Amino acid sequence: MGEPDGRTALVTGGSRGIGRAVAQRLAADGALVAVHYGGNEEAAEETVKSIAEAGGRAFAVRARFGERGALDELFDGLAAGLAEHGEDGLDVLVNNAGIHLVGSIGNLTEEEFDRAVTINVRTPVFVIQRALPLLRDGGRIVNVASAATRIGSPLQIGYTLSKAALTALAAPLANELGRRGITVNTVNPGVVLTDMTAGWTSAPEAMAELESITALGRIGRPEDIADVVGFLASPQGGWVTGQTVDASGGTYLGPIPPA
Ligand code: NAD
Repeated sequence: MGEPDGRTALVTGGSRGIGRAVAQRLAADGALVAVHYGGNEEAAEETVKSIAEAGGRAFAVRARFGERGALDELFDGLAAGLAEHGEDGLDVLVNNAGIHLVGSIGNLTEEEFDRAVTINVRTPVFVIQRALPLLRDGGRIVNVASAATRIGSPLQIGYTLSKAALTALAAPLANELGRRGITVNTVNPGVVLTDMTAGWTSAPEAMAELESITALGRIGRPEDIADVVGFLASPQGGWVTGQTVDASGGTYLGPIPPA
């Protein structure tokens, strides 16, 4: 665990999966991390505990996105947690919380689509809006979208559209915030072993199929994504802004020659 570096971070959906790995990574790099969770307090406290045990600093913040008052709850909890640690500003915001939506255009429902847009697009947009007054010069915003936006899977149409909209946030925001040294980027994971994908990655044939179309020959781990987010969030990542970084191990790049 690195020495505290004076930075603060908020990771949405930080209680499990990719978000947990990102929270752990940012804390290992020295940041005080606000671990946001939607409902599973135990999982959030586990993340906080794992960070503390490794010598880092973190606290949990609850907010059920999509419910009335969620952003007030998030930012009240964030302000209180920061104040407890003698802080009042934010350096890194990672919009990681998201939901998956399986289905083709034929069976997409308006309700499901609205829900995906609410959680995957509307929430990050307004989290950013509310975070801006706290965000210090030189800050970092990283949005976690998906490599689905490149791959074109008909069975994830609603999810893909929501993540494409999220991806489109980075360039205009990067232009708006760049003069303050704030960067805005999108990280697009391929398939990563988390609760979100457990349903189908538990099938050996699905895993083998995914491995066969991935240049690096394996499925992603949460830490793979956390490394990329960690770089973009770091001082060394300061010359990259308005970009989309594919973090899929090279999934669906084209034909892979036989070994
Ligand atoms: P996950 O389901 O394990 O975690 C999602 C997180 O979002 C959880 O912490 C959950 O509590 C939070 N969340 C979801 N809905 C919420 C709500 N209404 N209110 C508050 N919090 C809510 O998934 P993951 O695989 O860790 O995914 C993290 C991000 O990465 C998501 O945005 C996902 O779309 C994206 N992603 C994942 C994969 C993958 O293969 N796992 C691939 C590409 C992109």
